[in-house]
This record gives sequence, structure tokens and C-alpha cells, in this order.
Amino acid sequence: MTTIQEIVKILIDAGIEPNEANVEVKMLIEHFAGYSVKDILLGKKLEQDKLDAVKEKAVQRAKTREPIQYIIGYADFMGEKYIVNPSVLIPRDETEILVRKAIEIINNNNLKFALDVGTGSGCIACSVAKHTDCRVIGLDISSDALNTALDNASRLNLYNKAIFRKSDIFSNVKPSEKFDIIISNPPYIPVAQMESLQPEIKYEPTEALFTEDDKGVNFYSRISSEAPKILNACGFLIYEIGMGQSEAVHNIMVKSGFENIEIIKDLSGTDRVILGQISTRTQ
Ligand code: GLN
Repeated sequence: MTTIQEIVKILIDAGIEPNEANVEVKMLIEHFAGYSVKDILLGKKLEQDKLDAVKEKAVQRAKTREPIQYIIGYADFMGEKYIVNPSVLIPRDETEILVRKAIEIINNNNLKFALDVGTGSGCIACSVAKHTDCRVIGLDISSDALNTALDNASRLNLYNKAIFRKSDIFSNVKPSEKFDIIISNPPYIPVAQMESLQPEIKYEPTEALFTEDDKGVNFYSRISSEAPKILNACGFLIYEIGMGQSEAVHNIMVKSGFENIEIIKDLSGTDRVILGQISTRTQ
């Protein structure tokens, strides 16, 4: 007879952290056995064949270390479920800090046009479109990612407010188009670190995670230097950043003409988000 504890142990034995293993088994049970928290509260019994199906998925996860979100096809972000597949990065909890700050700025300043550079699953563009009056354009170099973003926007009924376009950074942004805020969670892990990361990372799109330069700041330089041309007066630029990158990105932004730079830490005390406003002197 299969038990839930036994399934959790399969994941722990594969090197997955106990807390994470518990959460993942819950996700598998919900998805593959159609068994919810409500069912647990109501004391509904989980049938053996359903538990066996869940165990099979746990064995697959343990063997391959494929991320749980790709196995179930969804990731939770900002209270919504987003379709994910190996063409898009799995939304991270920390990215909610970026999105919450962007939403706050947009709503406080009544901004109307936002650009999300490297949109991936579209989770940033969709969340911003959902919680503000902004129209958001999500850009990505990957057609497969854009298809996924489009599916997510349709599922959330946001297809008029969150739209998507193929573009290598700003290559397909017309000179006449102007935005009030540019948001980006660009690739920022130096490719040299690839081998030292968890095995799950190998399933994610390389071009969404890694940069060629050894500091991981290539994309911040490219985006910051071009951003002033397409920002409206007093427009904002806001990024997610990686560990130890705040000083370098701060300098890049100042050099590109941004001021009022602010840095926000994540729950572990790491500088995670940086934002600035274009100086009127720059434009
Ligand atoms: N925070 C992600 C990670 O560490 C990286 C996301 C990114 O490169 N934009 O896996």
C-alpha cells in the first residue's frame, strides 16, 4: 500500500529538501489525483490507484530532477496559475518583489504604457496588466516563449491589456513608441556558474538564465543604454538583479542617465530589485 509519507521520502532520498518535498507532493496530489486541501478538510479518502499515479510522477521527478512545475505544467505566481514548459523560465517567488514594486509605481503615478523585456511565460506582463490600468507589451526573442505568454494572457482574459511581440531587446520597438515604465527580469547568471547549480536548472531555457560576461550584467548594460530613447519624460526602469550585482547595475543605470535609484532587498536580505527614473537632462 502506497502512503503519502513514502512518496515524500522518494523525493527526499533524491536530494530534494524536506520542506520542498512536502510542498511538491501536495502539488502532485492536487494535480494528478484531483485531491484538494478542501477534500483533506472534509476527510475525503484518497484512493490507492490515484496515490499510485502520484507515486509514479514522484519517481520520475526523483530520477530526472525535472522541475515539478514542468511535470505538472503550471507554476504559481502572484496568486495565479501560469502555464510553463521548458521554453520559459519558471517564475520565482523573488520576482513577485519586482512585480509588486512595478504595480505600486504604476498605480501611484497613473502610468499607462509598460514594457516587459524578456517576458518568458508572460507572468510579469500579465500580473502588471491585471493589477493596473496599464497596457503592457511583453518582448521576447523566443517564439515558443511568446506562444506560452499568449496562452497565459488568454487564460487570464488579459489579451487586450497584455500583448506580446518578438524582439531582441528593443529591436522591434518602433522609434515612435514611448513607454512610462520598462520592467525586466533579464538573464543574469554568469555562464561559468552553470555547472555549480542545481540539476533542475538544466531543464530551463539557457537563454533566459545565463549571460556570457563574468559579472552577469550584460543585459543590464544593453537595456539601460537603449531605454532612455523609448521612455517618456520621468519614465521608470525597474529590474530584478542577482546576488552581488546591485553596485554594478547601479553604476550602469547612472551612466545611462537614470536618477532617484532605489534598491529593494528580498526576504533573505539580498539586494533583489533596483529601479530608477530617467533624468530629464538625459532625454
Ligand atoms: N533567480 C533565477 C535563479 O537564480 C535567475 C533568474 C534570471 O536569470 N533572471 O535561478
